[in-house]
Amino acid sequence: MTQPRFSFSVSATDGKARTGVISMRRGEIRTPAFMPVGTAATVKAMRPAEVRAAGADIILGNTYHLMLRPGAERMARLGGLHGFMGWDRPILTDSGGYQVMSLSALTRMSEEGVAFSSHIDGSKHMLSPERSMEIQRLLDSDIVMAFDECTRNGCTHDEAAQSMERSMRWAKRSRDAFDAGGAHADRAALFGIQQGSLDEGLRRVSADRLIDIGFDGYAVGGLAVGEGQEAMFGCLDFAPDMLPPDRPRYLMGVGKPDDIVGAVERGIDMFDCVLPTRSGRNGQAFTWNGPLNIRNARFAEDREPLDPRCACPVCSTWSRAYLHHLVKAGEMLGAMLMTQHNIHFYQDLMRNIRDSIAQGRFAVFAAGFRNEYKRA
Ligand SMILES: [Zn+2]
Repeated sequence: MTQPRFSFSVSATDGKARTGVISMRRGEIRTPAFMPVGTAATVKAMRPAEVRAAGADIILGNTYHLMLRPGAERMARLGGLHGFMGWDRPILTDSGGYQVMSLSALTRMSEEGVAFSSHIDGSKHMLSPERSMEIQRLLDSDIVMAFDECTRNGCTHDEAAQSMERSMRWAKRSRDAFDAGGAHADRAALFGIQQGSLDEGLRRVSADRLIDIGFDGYAVGGLAVGEGQEAMFGCLDFAPDMLPPDRPRYLMGVGKPDDIVGAVERGIDMFDCVLPTRSGRNGQAFTWNGPLNIRNARFAEDREPLDPRCACPVCSTWSRAYLHHLVKAGEMLGAMLMTQHNIHFYQDLMRNIRDSIAQGRFAVFAAGFRNEYKRA
């Protein structure tokens, strides 16, 4: 029997939290899911087999980075992103909309799209809903994100409304361009992105527009952009409820472990964030007692593993003292091992979340987690 193009089934709920499985041609994605970020066709410092061994079912690729280097057309000639980087399971690609605004120089935005200069070599490019769909098709992405404008934090109600309206027009253009993508449209999925800043009314309008267009899944966009956890949770108290319950809900760019637990409580199924990889390279390890900075002098002779409760290959082999030494000495292996532990910790967190929902004890798990986890 062939795998379905895309299906989502919820097997258990506990309050608003739910656990289930997304089935796609390249494999199943257990939800709630955390997607390690593979920006430039690599989850930095990790081999694909290690990412998989940590428990990841899906990773994320960045359209903006890949279109600039090595280039989408080149990637297509080389057979697509999966074969190129050696990851044969599902990949979600973002649309490039968020990163073009945050990373590139000299952007010029119009109804057509965003004209910009590469942050690498200054070369001129254009991203539009149509071009974003084309690039994600050339990469052979499994979950394609609609091209949108991430509304800036702290804008006025009018600005948020205009930005959301444009994103909804772009969502329709994304849908049309994706559907015209031939064979790729028959095997990939397309997600829409809800915008509307922190405003309940705008979030409702955005959700209704997206549902009218129709998507395989729905992302809550425009959060984790500096508004803080309390404001984010305030928005998540209503935003996910506006999206179809039979479709996965993806909170983009989130987050810290306690953000994830709180968002699952509010009905979110999918996450991505650079934190476990970036923090790993910076010497920060996530543990069940909160993050720790391995550079700290108190770890110089500490024989304990990073997290005594962690079963990852790093914690079962090396001490905090050794990792402290590697990171202080600027050794490559330090970044690799810290990243491997962090990726494993995040997947372990998701496994615990899924199991506790399935067993109807998610509230107990969440309370216990918050009791032990100390936010940095
Ligand atoms: Zn570990």
